[in-house]
Amino acid sequence: MVEAPAHDADRAFHILTLGCSKNRVDSDGMDHLLRSRGMTASACPEEARVVIVNTCGFLGAARDESVAAISELLDRRRDDQVVIAAGCMPALGNYRHDIPSGVDHVLTTREWHRIGDVVGGLLGEPPQPEVAGCEGMLTTFSRTQAGPSAYVKVADGCDHACAFCTIPSIKGRQVSKRPLHVLQEIVDLVGQGTKEVVLVAQDTIRYGADLGIKHGLPSLLEQIVDGVPDLPWLRMLYIYPSPLTLRMVDVMAEHDALLPYLDMPIQHADATVLRNMNRPSDITMTRRLIDHARAKMPDVVMRTTLIVGYPGETDEQFQTLLDFVREQEFDHVGVFTYSSEPGTKAVTLDLPTVPSQIAEERRNAIMEAQQAISLRKNQALVGQTVQVLIEAVGELEAEDEAGGSEPIAVGRARRHAPEVDGLVFVPGELPVGALIDLEIAEAGPYDLWAHPPGVRAARPAPLRGRRRRVPAARSRGATRPERRGQGARVPMAR
Ligand code: SF4
Repeated sequence: MVEAPAHDADRAFHILTLGCSKNRVDSDGMDHLLRSRGMTASACPEEARVVIVNTCGFLGAARDESVAAISELLDRRRDDQVVIAAGCMPALGNYRHDIPSGVDHVLTTREWHRIGDVVGGLLGEPPQPEVAGCEGMLTTFSRTQAGPSAYVKVADGCDHACAFCTIPSIKGRQVSKRPLHVLQEIVDLVGQGTKEVVLVAQDTIRYGADLGIKHGLPSLLEQIVDGVPDLPWLRMLYIYPSPLTLRMVDVMAEHDALLPYLDMPIQHADATVLRNMNRPSDITMTRRLIDHARAKMPDVVMRTTLIVGYPGETDEQFQTLLDFVREQEFDHVGVFTYSSEPGTKAVTLDLPTVPSQIAEERRNAIMEAQQAISLRKNQALVGQTVQVLIEAVGELEAEDEAGGSEPIAVGRARRHAPEVDGLVFVPGELPVGALIDLEIAEAGPYDLWAHPPGVRAARPAPLRGRRRRVPAARSRGATRPERRGQGARVPMAR
């Protein structure tokens, strides 16, 4: 236990969000509900009366991280501090008992909207009427913390049964947010200055199926484009490969606000491995989807995620995947080594386990092939003018003995999804939230360097040999295990 800080922190709360973008949206919802009770957010857990850990339970590594975070907070907590575990881990019956004893309350991922009542009860406050719009899991809420880019969760849960995945057992079946509520949330965000909205769900392409809406996602996209004409960038993530993608691509190609960016996790390219994964195994269909996207949007940026070392994956099957990566030349690829998760169908398969060393070698082989592709594609951008959304300003430290520093703006181009793709670095200060045309001056396999067109600024020294003090946009991404698919065992992107 540590001493309480000198100032009054009775009404302060702190939320630590672990895991994926969907969890971040739930944390935004809890933030809204607690502010609605007159509480204030604190950036420091030490200064908060109430600390909430929004956990991730997707894989063992994520659960370990969640347990460690809760334990650390419990070790350091003040006598009067309340600690709540929320999110996916409490929803996993098998692992709920791993949550350290000593937490004051546990809320599952689909109960986040009860946070106001829970906190009120723990602080001994009288019950308050529910905040309008938060009476259901997926109903909309006002986004008080809008930044230049915001995730909007359009559905929760998943109707698939991929053999390696725990999500259906955590989340249950898909439940979609009503189109009007999605629109309301986006109007709210744009009114607060948000320039990019990123639609997320476990299986975004199936949006609306549970509501009985045919072509739910394409129809939603058209409603957003018509209803929120001031939104410059709209992006979708987690597009499960299915024929539904064809109509979505047609709509994307018609509207400039719909970024030509297709995040389609294919996981593998060998039909047998895909069948063992309980995923779509018709690689011809996958090729058709990619071809259709490239025909309709010649500038489309393709991202995918892959799993190597899945049970039974042979050298030949891995080679099929590597050949597919070389053939298709995706712009961004995340590669993950298979992680065996208790309770999933994959652990019951009567197939040989791939030794972890071989799985690592396979991941490295794909990353190496992809880095060469990404570098070539990025270098082709040098000299071109691209639109960049500025998200943060930081400092670039020189590595010389004088230890000087210079300001540097950090943003993303249309080709970069938040947190998982590269960044654009611009020497100097630029206003956060600005959408600016910049000329690409230098390119690495992931990140780009740029300056305003016509400004023949001194060519920036390469990143190598310099140390970066991490601006906010970079540090946010560092918490995501799938960033660039390196060093991770977590197939987060679906
Ligand atoms: S990997 Fe994605 S699509 Fe498959 S079951 Fe998990 S959440 Fe659903």
